[in-house]
Amino acid sequence: MLVLNLACEAGHGFEGWFGSAADFESQQQRGLLSCPLCNSAQVRRMPSAPRLNLSAAAEPVAPAAAPAPAMSGGEGSGGVGAAALPVALQRQVMQAVRHLMANTEDVGDRFAEEARRIHYGETEARGIRGQATPDEASALAEEGIEVVALPVPDGLKDPLQ
Ligand SMILES: [Zn+2]
Repeated sequence: MLVLNLACEAGHGFEGWFGSAADFESQQQRGLLSCPLCNSAQVRRMPSAPRLNLSAAAEPVAPAAAPAPAMSGGEGSGGVGAAALPVALQRQVMQAVRHLMANTEDVGDRFAEEARRIHYGETEARGIRGQATPDEASALAEEGIEVVALPVPDGLKDPLQ
């Protein structure tokens, strides 16, 4: 692309884009050129040296490329930032519960009995889990047997599946 500095007979300066110098001369001779300000067809080429329009061709690339990473980065950080903490926290809790359940023996509703036997050394000391009624839990507490009530999230009743 060849950019020429042009001017009409009234002295209005403007740029004209042409495929080549010959293209400009052809259009000028056929009267296809006109001043954008006064519409005069008396257009002449200014003596200033023509330049190749390289910078203008590159300009649309930079502005178009810049917003894309900024926009995707904004969406990514925003979306992750909003949801990452609760999900990560929930995952940590789930992992802790899974670890606990994977390393304890499920004794079911025999929990109070087993806890008492472990406490008094009547059976092997080990981690157990199970269900205890409030009465059983309070009875264990009165005997000095520590138990922890742990709400197990739905879906983790059987973590080994
Ligand atoms: Zn003019």
